[in-house]
Amino acid sequence: MGNKIEPTKTDNCVPATSILDLMKIYVDSKLCYHSDPMKTAEFIDQHDRFAYQIDLWTLIDKRKFKKCERPYNGEPSPNENLRGLFDYEYELPDTVLKRSKHEYHNLEQTRQKTACFSCGGEGIKTCRSCDGQGHSRCWLCSGTGNGGTTSDNVPISCLFCSGKGYTDCSKCGKTGKIHCRHCGACGYLLIWWKLEINWFTIHSVSYQTNTPMPPRKILKAPTKEDYLIYNEKWSYFDTFHGQFEADFAKQSNRLYPVKVDELAKEFNKKHLNITRKDRRIAKLKWNIQILKIAEVVYELEGYTNEHMKDLSHRFRFYYYGQDKKNRPLIYENDYPLNACGCFGVGCAHRSMCCTIS
Ligand SMILES: [Zn+2]
Ligand SMILES: [Zn+2]
Ligand SMILES: [Zn+2]
Repeated sequence: MGNKIEPTKTDNCVPATSILDLMKIYVDSKLCYHSDPMKTAEFIDQHDRFAYQIDLWTLIDKRKFKKCERPYNGEPSPNENLRGLFDYEYELPDTVLKRSKHEYHNLEQTRQKTACFSCGGEGIKTCRSCDGQGHSRCWLCSGTGNGGTTSDNVPISCLFCSGKGYTDCSKCGKTGKIHCRHCGACGYLLIWWKLEINWFTIHSVSYQTNTPMPPRKILKAPTKEDYLIYNEKWSYFDTFHGQFEADFAKQSNRLYPVKVDELAKEFNKKHLNITRKDRRIAKLKWNIQILKIAEVVYELEGYTNEHMKDLSHRFRFYYYGQDKKNRPLIYENDYPLNACGCFGVGCAHRSMCCTIS
């Protein structure tokens, strides 16, 4: 890189005489590009172009009710009716969450004292082990009390039940009744609703540009600047255009402003479409970055633009600033000798499969 380039601004303020030098540096830096055509390159024209990277985030509020119960213990029970899923308001977390966030809220106003459905409000239940008998048939002698005979043929009683034929129920202590575990034997339950909330973020990225620059180039461009930033609560009754209007009126770039309609489509498809009965958008954030680009038209005598035949001997490149090492950042897709140029001009050609950009 012999040419010393004056530091330039990241936008389109490079003088016409030196902007072709930037292209030369770019071509020299490409392994398979041949620099020959640039020797006679002639500057034709330069235009301001732009690209936007638009990051959209929505905070989603997903909810469900869960019925809870525990033994009643004298708590106040207002017995308020359960309202709609989204009629309960809580503090919103950040719009951009790295991982989803779970939280729950006990709706104490819905507390209700009710008779225990398990014991019918009695607090005790029939013992299921002994069917309420307090004892059950001996499993060893099957209720006969007979334990067989000795070697002398003398009958002996069952060792397990001592000849009674039944054994006392240890579950209920012979009473045939057990305490209801559901209500802690008090006969009443406290019932209430719990609201479970799952917060999570949906993120989408889109690009708008009046250049042929592909999204990956815009994404990687280090010279993007913040353009519009917004982060607000989203109401159920809002529309995307409604939210955008105020912020978009602030757009300073009148030559190529962000297209709101396109963005609204993106929003509807990737964000609004996921809303269901149980989930809503709670917050909306956008971060729009602008990339200022100079589109340069130049002519190469004796070379034809194979990419766009209409341009004939003219070619274009897109300059969008310099990287950290002061090298020009350029995008082009029509330079004539961008394949096999290392074997000389004669062997160089423009090939789709060898295109390096
Ligand atoms: Zn009970
Ligand atoms: Zn027995
Ligand atoms: Zn029992």
